[in-house]
Amino acid sequence: MNYRSTRGSAAVVNSAQAVVKGLAEDGGLYMMEALPEFDAKACLAKSTKDMAKQILGTLLPDIPDMDTLVERAYTGKFQTEELTPTVCVGDFTVLELFRGPTSAFKDVALCMLPQLLTAAKATQGMEEDILILTATSGDTGKAALAGFADVPGVGICVFYPNGGVSAVQRAQMVTQPGNNVRVYAVEGNFDDAQTGVKTIFNACADGKLLEGKPFRLSSANSINIGRLAPQITYYFKAYKDLMDRGQITFGDEVNFCVPTGNFGDILAGYLAKLLGLPVGRLICASNANNVLTDFIRTGTYDRRRPLHKTDSPSMDILVSSNLERLLYLLSGQNAGLVAELMGKLTTDGSYTVPEELKAAIEEGFWADYAGDAETADTMRLVWEKYGYLCDPHTAVGWYVAEHYVNQTGDHRPMVVLSTASPYKFPSAVLSAIGGDTSGDEFDQMDRLSALTGVAIPGNLSGLKELPERHTGVIAKEDMLATVLNDK
Ligand SMILES: *Cc1c(COP(=O)(O)O)cnc(C)c1O
Repeated sequence: MNYRSTRGSAAVVNSAQAVVKGLAEDGGLYMMEALPEFDAKACLAKSTKDMAKQILGTLLPDIPDMDTLVERAYTGKFQTEELTPTVCVGDFTVLELFRGPTSAFKDVALCMLPQLLTAAKATQGMEEDILILTATSGDTGKAALAGFADVPGVGICVFYPNGGVSAVQRAQMVTQPGNNVRVYAVEGNFDDAQTGVKTIFNACADGKLLEGKPFRLSSANSINIGRLAPQITYYFKAYKDLMDRGQITFGDEVNFCVPTGNFGDILAGYLAKLLGLPVGRLICASNANNVLTDFIRTGTYDRRRPLHKTDSPSMDILVSSNLERLLYLLSGQNAGLVAELMGKLTTDGSYTVPEELKAAIEEGFWADYAGDAETADTMRLVWEKYGYLCDPHTAVGWYVAEHYVNQTGDHRPMVVLSTASPYKFPSAVLSAIGGDTSGDEFDQMDRLSALTGVAIPGNLSGLKELPERHTGVIAKEDMLATVLNDK
């Protein structure tokens, strides 16, 4: 199947090439040229893994043996074989995406991406290894490390801001086993680490610095279609659960509320809809960094604002990369328009979409945000009212979902996507439900569990005892040299 760049001036590639390349040469993101035939009803009769096989086999048909890849990616890695369970909580259904190996929703995609990447690379006859470079503010780093550890033909190097991630997140990364993994703390903040990674990609873009090196660089970010596509599956899985419980029959529309950062998760929901899943509204939930709320309501995207540090840090973001794919799809694949808007974002820091495009966005999407106070109130209310413990990101989603129902009177079934275990953010959760937050994060985890009776996920409870394997701290100026020389 052919994939085209959202900005129109890169060569057309097949699905395997799109996965290997990640980003198109013109700076755009790859999107399929035409919608494939897809039997959504047949998909809904399947197990979660079989759904993934059908969806990924359809969208990435140039990667052979998808069934084996899906089995390898997921078997035995999640708490249950259904991978992403749903729970009825009050009037809503919570879709738990955090039951994977690192307790982050990113596991769903990052277990699959290494399989897709190595298989795609083999079909392309590429001989060099791929070195994945990732800057992380916390969650992506560990999920990527776990996904890529000891995968043949791939290495991974993660940079995190020294002192800028939680103690649990740091412990998760620095204890990571595997012969192909490297982790460094960078003296600086997340932007420094991210800028450092972009600088490395740019410095290596013409291939000269990598001449004679046994590897090529790639990214595990959701700009890669191989990271995005696996996220479509859980929308089908949630819909199937509602059918199985007799809450809906096939064809009834379901709304999904998605705690959003880079717009990958919610875009996967839109792709599910394009594949025939009866999706009603997709509701975009943000924290105080509400650039997407403003955009969806007004049609103007304006990044010229301060970045707030919030209690839902995985959504602290001002430029949501995957929005570009939505603009492309909703404008009738108007790559010229997308290139123009993205150019404006770079030069002016803002852009406004044409009226028709704004209307198309409003038809499928709705948006709102929750500040830290509302987020904490929601965690407490959901716990007190329903006995359900949720993390701050999920609470943002819950708050916005309630607002949506109150403001629109739309009572179609609502699925709230839950993107992290509450134990990844023990301090914020404890303080919201009125617990004592003294001690370190490991003390807080124990106290949270004692207070609520909710079990600590095994991958987090054992962390404190594991040996630290990656204790390097480097200056941001040394990131490039570290990547080039130390392999
Ligand atoms: C990454 C992340 C998000 C945001 O997902 P996007 O696909 O970037 O929109 C939300 N919550 C958590 C916990 C995350 O790790």
